[in-house]
Amino acid sequence: ADGTQKYDYQSDVARLRKIVINSLYSHRDVFLRELISNANDALEKLRLTSLTVPEVLEGAESMNITIKAFKDEDGTAKLVIRDTGIGMNADELTANLGTLAKSGTSEFLARAESSDSTGTGNLIGAFGLGFYSSFLVADKVYVASLAAKSPKNPQPQQYVFSSSSDESTFEVYPDPRGNVLGRGTEITLILKEDALEYLDTLRVTELVSKHSSFATAFPIYLHTTRTEEVPVDEEEEEVTEKPKSEDEDEDEAVVEDVEEEEEKPKKTKSVTVEEWVHLNSQPPIWMRDPKTVTEEEYELFYQSTFKDYEKPLGWAHFSGDSAGTSFKAILYIPSRLDDSFWQNPQTTADIRLMVKRVFITSDLGEDALPKWASWVKVVVDADDLPLNVSRETLQSTRFLKQLKSIIVKRLIQTLAKIAEKAAHVGELDVLGDDAEMSEEELAWWRVSQVYNNALKLGAVEDTKNRERIAPLVRFPSNQRNETSLDRYVEGRKQGQKQIFYLADMGKTPEALAKSVFVEKLHARGYEVLLLGQPLDEIFVQSVRTWKKLPFQDVAKAGLKFGDEEEDPEEEKERQKELTEQYKPLLEWFKNEAKDAVRNVVISNRLVTSPCAIVADAYGYTANMEKMLNAQNQ
Ligand code: ADP
Ligand code: MG
Repeated sequence: ADGTQKYDYQSDVARLRKIVINSLYSHRDVFLRELISNANDALEKLRLTSLTVPEVLEGAESMNITIKAFKDEDGTAKLVIRDTGIGMNADELTANLGTLAKSGTSEFLARAESSDSTGTGNLIGAFGLGFYSSFLVADKVYVASLAAKSPKNPQPQQYVFSSSSDESTFEVYPDPRGNVLGRGTEITLILKEDALEYLDTLRVTELVSKHSSFATAFPIYLHTTRTEEVPVDEEEEEVTEKPKSEDEDEDEAVVEDVEEEEEKPKKTKSVTVEEWVHLNSQPPIWMRDPKTVTEEEYELFYQSTFKDYEKPLGWAHFSGDSAGTSFKAILYIPSRLDDSFWQNPQTTADIRLMVKRVFITSDLGEDALPKWASWVKVVVDADDLPLNVSRETLQSTRFLKQLKSIIVKRLIQTLAKIAEKAAHVGELDVLGDDAEMSEEELAWWRVSQVYNNALKLGAVEDTKNRERIAPLVRFPSNQRNETSLDRYVEGRKQGQKQIFYLADMGKTPEALAKSVFVEKLHARGYEVLLLGQPLDEIFVQSVRTWKKLPFQDVAKAGLKFGDEEEDPEEEKERQKELTEQYKPLLEWFKNEAKDAVRNVVISNRLVTSPCAIVADAYGYTANMEKMLNAQNQ
């Protein structure tokens, strides 16, 4: 009769809520981060919508987030998180909070149910639980929301979504208080008995500054009270202004506690002063002087901005100028490369573009960056682009075009710096053994583990930057676990005029090292790159030479040893003698092999193997043939 609609949760929501309630106790702090992140999303949506539909701003001037914790008259502990964002109408309350629309949450669910509860704890970090994390700390949750005005919804009405942690149903009904919010959403958590710590404003302040101070550019205000001694004759209390909001709740008026103090000559009284404390008043991290930003701040900013609960492997904080517009930026190297990087031919890069601190878009279209670099995460704040620039116009601006190439250059620089710091990389015999590596070596090793193949792709495809990317690529060799091209060339033997490699896709370095082609070179002390990865041979063919030394496939003719010159005449003489001596055998072989081989010769390549089949200098290698055959199928 009062317009209350009762709904059953979809079964997956019910399952999720059960997991949340039962197994994530030790991670329950995350609820606040999730609710603030939702408030931020709603405010961003409002601001973006207002560019084309100004009516949405009617109802409440301000765009902010407020948090208030208190016990009401009957002792019920409440934590109220309110935003003046886009809000939700009744249907949206039902759809957004009553169903699992979010793919991330579904993935969480699938994984959580296939792992034990300790595993679930890590998952919450990786996926985030969104709104449902409210039930980690609340017995009951009320979400009152008043959608923003729009031509489609000229007279929005405030509705409430309510649900208890022990029920499998939720209700949606018109708010009996009327449209008191002005605009936006108010989440009231009825705190569990064992979650009263969140009434403590210090605790809340700590949580916000740790996890959410970077999560939003909108101000977050926390309601606090403190007792202050004021002279009795002073009539005015000192009350800091409340964040502007058109609908101030009457019941939140200042509480006064008057106490007479007799001993002091000057009469004072204690008053309870209410304050709205601005929790995220620091300028955003990218606007600050890099010298004043701590590592932890960079990491936390990355984690909350890009919703990655792993720390980044590196970053660069820089300012620049793109097509006459100055900007500040931070780029990050994530700790993982998704499988989708290799599966999708196109990847959109995660570049969050802001103009004067206001978020504009993170969708810079396909090909925002060259494929190989599309994994980098960037925030960019430009000084003077028109705020309502549409994505289409933006994409064609000179600003964006230049920005992209600046980002790629910076990325390469950042990677190179990490590599340089790891001074001994390439000499490590115990790669992968954390204990044996210095912090710098470990830092580069991690980057190389994740991005080595992406860097090969860069050297192949990004011709403009090839010379800068190629030195970052690492290959295993018969002498080391890994080496760079520079290190290879530095360590070459005297007189060596080629970079030796053996390529056989799919083979491990160990298997390649045992090849007969490598034997002779190894015995003579030459380093041979062992190329078993799909992009290796294409890399070699794209780069062609390094420091003027051509690459030489040791399975192909054309191999030149630098030390042949030691006694070329004697060597030739010996070769001649042997050929004469073994003529009958060679003839017999040639006859037996017929068309299968072009020639049979005496070789100085081999040490322990009796014979080897070698490709013609200008023919395809066996490996290339394999790849071509695979393509033609
Ligand atoms: P996600 O934020 O990843 O979408 P959540 O579970 O956190 O998942 O939120 C579900 C949805 O509920 C959001 O996508 C949004 O549509 C809606 N929502 C949640 N909180 C708010 C809010 N404060 N204002 C407006 N909409 C909200
Ligand atoms: Mg969310």
